[in-house]
Amino acid sequence: MPAQIIDGKALAQAIREGIAEEVRLLEKDTGIKPGLAAVLVGEDPASAVYVRNKKIACEKAGLYPQEHRLPASTTQETLLKLIQQLNADARIHGILVQLPLPPGMDSQAILQAVSPEKDVDGFHPVNVGRLVGGDPVFIPCTPKGVIQMIDSTGQDITGKRAVVIGRSNIVGKPVAMLLLHRHATVTICHSRTKDLPAVVREADIVIAAIGKPLFVTTDMVKEGAIVIDVGINRLADGKLVGDVDFDRVKERAGWITPVPGGVGPMTIAMLLQNTLESAKRTAGK
Ligand code: NDP
Repeated sequence: MPAQIIDGKALAQAIREGIAEEVRLLEKDTGIKPGLAAVLVGEDPASAVYVRNKKIACEKAGLYPQEHRLPASTTQETLLKLIQQLNADARIHGILVQLPLPPGMDSQAILQAVSPEKDVDGFHPVNVGRLVGGDPVFIPCTPKGVIQMIDSTGQDITGKRAVVIGRSNIVGKPVAMLLLHRHATVTICHSRTKDLPAVVREADIVIAAIGKPLFVTTDMVKEGAIVIDVGINRLADGKLVGDVDFDRVKERAGWITPVPGGVGPMTIAMLLQNTLESAKRTAGK
């Protein structure tokens, strides 16, 4: 039987509607409107699209968006100064610095300058530590969206074998940590993993976060598995595909996410959710 498609677009839309309602109530009760500042340095076209989409999503949900576009020639000192201003700005509850930063910038120093209380991406070492310790304040947006997509299947994560392909700080590691906290038995694969297909075949839940088109093929997937495709890859003909061979794997998996329309929209919804949660904390709620 073909897999059930986990519709990230519809799921994200429902979450965004719920957020819009909560934003409205928060403002009515406390006068606080959740504010999100997005900082973009340089002219990377993909990053510009991401930042624009985040701004539109903020506006639609009733949040207060601020956009800061700086030229690629911006010095690290200037960027740090802007982050300090945003840290001190009471209208702002979330700060996101769009990655990648231009070469020559010390990304770690920049991410560490963001106040951990406004770090809606969850990249600050304090928030990474809180996540590993099992008491997170901000859960990184893409991993958070992945877990909500798995939950949308109605399957219990407890005791399941989960295989995460990719070990980045942004996706692979935090997803693995969240699955562990939900009592899955977790394996993380990477470019040095031996016989990766055999490892993935064991999985009840597969998370693909590699950045290689059509990497996960049918022969790697256990019948009935939940397959979450985080990858975003642009083919030579301009088509957008994930890391999973969707058309074939969907004939074997139990549930699968498409690309586009899967994890991507959920990531933005989680950013709004983290900003709302931050504003609620400010309001003492
Ligand atoms: P990174 O490039 O930081 O990490 C990729 C990981 O994949 C690395 O751990 C790497 O292993 C592993 N890998 C690469 N090649 C292989 C291979 N042949 N076999 C096994 N493992 C391999 O990527 P990100 O985690 O930042 O992103 C992954 C994908 O997800 C990208 O396509 C990105 O665009 C997408 N993405 C999508 C988001 C969304 O909202 N949908 C958000 C963030 C990312 P090693 O560590 O050994 O090098």
